[in-house]
Amino acid sequence: GAVIGMLGGGQLGRMLSMAAARLGFRCHIFEPGAAPPAGQVAEAVTTAGYDDLDALRRFAEVVDVITYEFENIPTAALDVLEALRPIHPGRRALAVSQDRLTEKEFLRGLGLQTAPFAPVDDAAGLEAALAAIGTPAILKTRRLGYDGKGQTRLTAPGDAAEALAAMAGAPAILEGFVEFSHEVSVIAARGQDGAVACFDPGENVHRDGILATTTVPARLSHAQRTDAVLLAGRILNALDYVGVMGVELFVTRGGLIVNEIAPRVHNSGHWTQTGCVIDQFEQHIRAVAGWPLGDGQRHADVVMENLIGSDMDRVPELAAARDVALHLYGKAETRAGRKMGHANRIMRPG
Ligand code: ATP
Ligand code: MG
Ligand code: MG
Repeated sequence: GAVIGMLGGGQLGRMLSMAAARLGFRCHIFEPGAAPPAGQVAEAVTTAGYDDLDALRRFAEVVDVITYEFENIPTAALDVLEALRPIHPGRRALAVSQDRLTEKEFLRGLGLQTAPFAPVDDAAGLEAALAAIGTPAILKTRRLGYDGKGQTRLTAPGDAAEALAAMAGAPAILEGFVEFSHEVSVIAARGQDGAVACFDPGENVHRDGILATTTVPARLSHAQRTDAVLLAGRILNALDYVGVMGVELFVTRGGLIVNEIAPRVHNSGHWTQTGCVIDQFEQHIRAVAGWPLGDGQRHADVVMENLIGSDMDRVPELAAARDVALHLYGKAETRAGRKMGHANRIMRPG
């Protein structure tokens, strides 16, 4: 079978490798860190940094197509890979989503709603941004933030100095605080033939900036559900996207507001492993490999719960529970705030 090159060896790369193996593909992981979770299930692992362009070249030469579970691939690394093999999703999706400022400008350009935003590079910039946007607001690093890291909330203009210090000189963006009723996400897929398929939107609850649970079905009206799916399709088509994307949304009285997009499989799509015939991981592999998209229709109500840090103490109980599918990532060390696994619970009526 063909070999899929995977940039990043975390739990997403691991579950993508498992889905790929089921379709007869082999996976080769490229990952800077030692002992990546995906390495336990993939055929081969290259351990090297993204600045090791020779290692990237050798990796590209032994695979047929390249994809990733990690969107912060440096431009120089992309140049090397792209010259040798097709990479899906493509460069435009990466460029747009690696920087919160370009991401929001792109979304606005499509006519979609975002939080009010302004770039912040220094104290004067923050003052101007606060004058335009007001408080409450959130200052976020433009690049490399995840799980709520690199974010500071400002409740009053007096918080400016402290918030700016937390950015440590990194380019930032100030976002107005969105008064949402709840958060949902659309896991959307687009094939090489341009077909788009969306999984049913999930409702997300975060704890300490980290996704805690995703519940399907989400609390959405029929019109909101349609809107969510159509706006995701618009994003994918505009990027000529190939693969799975996570689109995070705030639900407000003024409609759906796009929080951010992730050009990869997404934690809030893990419920699809239990709720659909074809899950987000297989859907992504299908798209990357040039297969037709599969049937992602939801056939069950599911609550996905992340197992973070000491949640691992509950594994024996979850393993014995009815209607729970347990997924553990094989990480050697349990640490506070670290995603160790997840549990998908089927919710049966009555
Ligand atoms: P992820 O792990 O999803 O990539 P992240 O670090 O990129 O997280 P965001 O998704 O930007 O962070 O923010 C994390 C959470 O903080 C959001 O899901 C939401 O609950 C809250 N949040 C972020 N931006 C805003 C905003 N402008 N208004 C209100 N709440 C917000
Ligand atoms: Mg993010
Ligand atoms: Mg997010």
